[in-house]
Amino acid sequence: MSAVRLAGGQEFKTSVFVNAAGPMLAEVGRMLGVDIPVFNELHLKAAFNDAHGVVGRDAPLLIYTDEQELDWSDEERAWLAEDAETHWLTGQLPSSAHVRPEGGTHAETIILLWDLHNEPVEAVFPPPLDPMYPEIAMRGLIKLLPKLCVYLERMPKPYVDGGYYTRTQENRPLACPLPVEGAFVIGAMSGYGIMSSPALGELVAAHIASARLPDYAPYFNLNRYQDPEYQKLLDSWSDSWQL
Ligand SMILES: Cc1cc2nc3c(=O)[nH]c(=O)nc-3n(C[C@H](O)[C@H](O)[C@H](O)COP(=O)(O)OP(=O)(O)OC[C@H]3O[C@@H](n4cnc5c(N)ncnc54)[C@H](O)[C@@H]3O)c2cc1C
Repeated sequence: MSAVRLAGGQEFKTSVFVNAAGPMLAEVGRMLGVDIPVFNELHLKAAFNDAHGVVGRDAPLLIYTDEQELDWSDEERAWLAEDAETHWLTGQLPSSAHVRPEGGTHAETIILLWDLHNEPVEAVFPPPLDPMYPEIAMRGLIKLLPKLCVYLERMPKPYVDGGYYTRTQENRPLACPLPVEGAFVIGAMSGYGIMSSPALGELVAAHIASARLPDYAPYFNLNRYQDPEYQKLLDSWSDSWQL
């Protein structure tokens, strides 16, 4: 590695390049001729004004850990079942609808998340936002917080945003050298990058500085996929290890 050339032709002399491109990790890896086995999942969240104070301002993150069917009226159920695009909403839906208060004791905002579609997707920006998501996430929390029903009559205006979880098959991040001299990678932190990035940043910095590596360094190295024993483990893990 002697330099990085930008699309505009500008060149930066450097002996070190760190691929920390988040959802574009694989694409930037391809620029180096390196296959980085990660994929992206779209994850959305919806924020509402909880004017009725259904969620206590001192509540922790609340997670409904059961799978569930949503309670629709007969008319709603028939209408949803008719359309191939909405039929799935009448069946068994995954666990893990969650909610937490956002802001201090005087704020009213609550944030709702429910991961309903975890299939790999191409990262596009801005991420596509499903207009039905806020209501579905709200309905997914009603078994946990029945008083949320009050909002079904008249949904408060939601604010929806989201992004991508970039992850490896076993949901374990990467922080290591790449097989190109001077190139490193840090990423695939999935849905826990805010929590894990300080430690992973320290790990990739230790690699760059040729410092003493912690015992756990091999678990975050891309070369783990070349180990036949690790491949056997991967084959035997059916769980997505989503947090
Ligand atoms: C809805 C949602 C909720 C989440 N909640 C939590 C949570 O509660 N706790 C938690 O710990 N984590 C959470 N996460 C996960 C966390 O946000 C991510 O793991 C983390 O942001 C990943 O950081 P990153 O630096 O790898 O990628 P990013 O933050 O995506 O940064 C990548 C950067 O690379 C840049 N880039 C990309 N391509 C190029 C290129 N070709 N050239 C130059 N620059 C480029 C991008 O512009 C971007 O600035 C959540 C994620 C989502 C989507």
